[in-house]
Amino acid sequence: MIITEKKPAEELLAMLSGVRKVALVGCGNCAAACQTGGEKEVAEMKQFLEERGFEVVGTVLPDECCHKMLVKRDLRALKDSGAEAVVGLACGDGVQTVADNIQLPVYPANNTVFLGQVERVGIFHEYCRMCGDCVLGETGGICPVTRCAKSLVNGPCGGQKNGKCEVCPDNDCAWILIYNRLQATGQAEKLGRTRRTKGYSGAYYPKHVNLREGKKA
Ligand code: SF4
Ligand code: SF4
Repeated sequence: MIITEKKPAEELLAMLSGVRKVALVGCGNCAAACQTGGEKEVAEMKQFLEERGFEVVGTVLPDECCHKMLVKRDLRALKDSGAEAVVGLACGDGVQTVADNIQLPVYPANNTVFLGQVERVGIFHEYCRMCGDCVLGETGGICPVTRCAKSLVNGPCGGQKNGKCEVCPDNDCAWILIYNRLQATGQAEKLGRTRRTKGYSGAYYPKHVNLREGKKA
């Protein structure tokens, strides 16, 4: 899931300086789960802006704000709204999808922070940085790129203390986790193996995938 956090209100208000009529676009998927862009947050944003003198002329909540077809369809509701600007309550992908499909200034209400695992409602953990060359098969299904503070892919730095990371003591050392997982799952021999060189050539951006034409670029 894409994890988002609300931007500070004053930052949003500064972006909206000079605007009076706004439309709001939320997201029924990740942002709703992050409590940054679902029905409740859109209603709260409407109230917040109206209390500060804005006229909220329309609200839209696509099921997924990163899905172009859905966004395009739902934005039709704002066509004659008179909005001077749009506030996007989604991730950076969703806000850009809105901006691609409406001829108005679009402002993000959220910061997009990571791709994460949902532990339970409202609790998320960063698990993948989308490096383009996954090594999970060698590391017991624990990502050293993301979960080691130094992104070390060939073993620990040696600074861990009581299983905690020397950089972020709140976090478990990823390499202790990897060691324990490999031991527990009968893969301990992988610890002594020479690893292939981790490729970062897949970490460029922007990337594109076209399954219809069998292309990735
Ligand atoms: S190795 Fe790369 S693709 Fe695999 S989980 Fe880690 S960051 Fe994500
Ligand atoms: S203590 Fe562990 S998680 Fe922290 S930087 Fe060193 S190897 Fe990575």
